[in-house]
Amino acid sequence: MKIKKILNNFINFVIPDYCFICKEVLENNETQICDHCISLLKEPECFCKKCGKPTDLNQDWCNICKYKKIYYEKMFVAYYYDETLKKFLKKVKYNPSEKIFENFDICYNLFLNNEQLKELAILKDNLDFVLPIPIHLERQKLRGYNQSVLLAQVLEDCYGIHYKTDILKKHKNTKFFFSLNKKEREKELENAFEIINFEAIKNKNILLLDDISTTGTTMNNISKLLLENGANSIFTMCLAHGE
Ligand SMILES: [Zn+2]
Ligand SMILES: [Zn+2]
Repeated sequence: MKIKKILNNFINFVIPDYCFICKEVLENNETQICDHCISLLKEPECFCKKCGKPTDLNQDWCNICKYKKIYYEKMFVAYYYDETLKKFLKKVKYNPSEKIFENFDICYNLFLNNEQLKELAILKDNLDFVLPIPIHLERQKLRGYNQSVLLAQVLEDCYGIHYKTDILKKHKNTKFFFSLNKKEREKELENAFEIINFEAIKNKNILLLDDISTTGTTMNNISKLLLENGANSIFTMCLAHGE
């Protein structure tokens, strides 16, 4: 262990590692993202108790949840989707050559030190499994991975909740969301997913997991689909909530 550390320090000295976000040289105790960039990530303080959307006042429900049918019980949100996290996730998703997820240390930091996820630790015994939102097969081939599955692996390690990838399939290769407005996004998402294992969801309490939730439409559509096909309850979680 000691030798490994000395060796790592030496390698870092000869070929320094750079912060994935700000490109500054990393200190020896830092992995992938520097402490400064991590300190910039903000946990939500005022947010809707139903969908997790950031709100100005600490209202129980945001204006959307007051009028729209929300099928899941609650959304757990780890962070605001601010500039730091935006840069991070864009690189993860659209520059897969950077291979940030080959080393999961950063995700463990993101999940384990998060205040908002403490309630999840209490809820975990009532959950049957985590369901990472699938991406279309073609996109997965291009990217080499589904970032939500990688997050589910970290969540499994942190909280001991198993995840399943054989339940849901995305059969529509939706356009890149960055280029779409809210209305276009909702249209793209209609009927984009299908259940491929009906037996596995019967009477189950499921946690849907995604990296970003912008409008919450994907989570809500899938929750509806799962409940209509026999699931008992749906909770949702995302690394960051935009809007
Ligand atoms: Zn940095
Ligand atoms: Zn809401």
